Amino acid sequence: MTRLFPVRGDQLSLGLPSLLACEKSSDVILMMEVREEAVTPRHHKKKIAFLLSAMRHFADELRGQGYRVDYITLDAPGNTHSFTSEISRARQRHQAEAVICTWPNEWRVAEALRELGSELLEDTRFLSSRAEFAAWAAGRKQLRMEYFYRQLRTRHGILMQDGEPEGGQWNYDVENRNTLPHAITIPPPYEEAPDTVTEEVLALVERHFPDHFGDLRPFPYAVTRAGAQAALARFITQRLARFGDYQDAMRQGEPWLFHAHISLYLNCGLLMPGECVAAAERAYRAGAVPLNSAEGFIRQILGWREYVRGLYWLKMPGYAAQNALNARRPLPNFYWTAETSMNCLRQCVSETRANAYAHHIQRLMVLGNFALLAGLDPVAVNEWYLLVYADAYEWVELPNVSGMVLFADGGLLASKPYAAGGAYINRMSNYCVDCRFNVTKKTGPQACPFNYLYWDFLDRNRASLTQNARLTLAYSTLDKMPAPVLTAIRDNATVFLAGLT
Ligand code: FAD
Ligand code: SF4
Repeated sequence: MTRLFPVRGDQLSLGLPSLLACEKSSDVILMMEVREEAVTPRHHKKKIAFLLSAMRHFADELRGQGYRVDYITLDAPGNTHSFTSEISRARQRHQAEAVICTWPNEWRVAEALRELGSELLEDTRFLSSRAEFAAWAAGRKQLRMEYFYRQLRTRHGILMQDGEPEGGQWNYDVENRNTLPHAITIPPPYEEAPDTVTEEVLALVERHFPDHFGDLRPFPYAVTRAGAQAALARFITQRLARFGDYQDAMRQGEPWLFHAHISLYLNCGLLMPGECVAAAERAYRAGAVPLNSAEGFIRQILGWREYVRGLYWLKMPGYAAQNALNARRPLPNFYWTAETSMNCLRQCVSETRANAYAHHIQRLMVLGNFALLAGLDPVAVNEWYLLVYADAYEWVELPNVSGMVLFADGGLLASKPYAAGGAYINRMSNYCVDCRFNVTKKTGPQACPFNYLYWDFLDRNRASLTQNARLTLAYSTLDKMPAPVLTAIRDNATVFLAGLT
């Protein structure tokens, strides 16, 4: 009896539960490059190239291990370019009696697979299960990441000492907000030259998706597990030590800083979260990196990454439709063109376009902060984040955007909106030096738009936010503003927002 095992582009792990269940002699693995997945939404060229090349390399690896792989390329005759219809076609082709899949990382795909009658195996490539998160969340009014993180730290025994957190504290975030000194050497990121498989894919992507957002070349990313492991090793030895201190810093012309740049590998299965966490803890135990760096990095993976996945599956499908602040404004064109006089936004969009990457604070406190303050429509903002970043999949993108950035879930994920004026961006970056606006001015033609947009946002959303205890100080400052100042803020914001195209 033959069974069909579809493997998706984000399931490139030899330890994938469905692969472990596959009988090499009789079963068939189906991998497919379908247009539907590349164009809904129209993903960044680098992201498509990365995934297609990683899939092709993985298929070769599977064949090398003795699996029978039916691989449908984008150019293959008869390719219907739909994930579900390719499964149906392959099922007929191989006379397969069953379709077995590892649980996909997208609600829509899980529904489609269930409709096809596929058997779904739980995805064990995370450090917590969906059931564990649901049990933890049951009965809680607020779902704060910190408490789920502590539970996972304890259960996995990570950075623990005699049942207590290493160093006596669970979280060293207060030590992780330093600005970048002028004279600091930033190690270059891990890079690989494209091999022949990747070169073929790059040509294919240029042919099929020439109008998609983003620069295809240069293409320096790893596309195999060995490459992804090398990228992780490079991070641990060269950048982790300073990750903690400068996690929130931004500098013009320096997209990578001390970040790991591994999320694209983690999210498609080339790296496992457990190995990343273990490598960071080992470096700390060996005395190579300080505790605030190891803990800060581990919290991102064991904390945030696991938490957003749990939240996604707990709250879908309703989570995607939430819009607690009733934000309706269309996405301004500069999110595609980078043509704006606001230098911080120009830099972050340009780097996103070049690299299909921006680090967390760029995504949150520049690009996201603007989307929040300007009241941009969550559907449009989510679509943008989903297509521009090489690491973006709905399970991780949606909670970060709707929950963390837009407060569209009404405060389920974040205890208050991550809203800030220009002073924050000025403190954490050097963007303001090259900007035509003046970050110290609150109103007027030279004023940094983040400044008046911040107060206008609080003013506009008073009914939804004024009860939030963490905003008491901000609202009391707003309430004490002289009437002419508040009028100027409102007028500046109205004119600015009306001018967005
Ligand atoms: P580092 O800063 O070096 O962090 C290490 C790892 O921690 C990352 O590789 C990632 O796996 C994990 N991590 C860190 N923060 C988060 C987080 N908030 N949620 C989940 N995992 C986290 N991350 C994605 O993987 N995919 C996305 O689509 C995505 N969209 C985001 C959208 C917004 C608006 C924001 C604010 C954050 C988003 N993130 C997303 C989280 C974070 O920005 C990226 O994981 C990180 O920038 C990836 O770069 P890095 O590997 O250099 O990460
Ligand atoms: Fe951004 Fe304002 Fe600074 Fe310009 S002045 S870079 S708009 S924060």
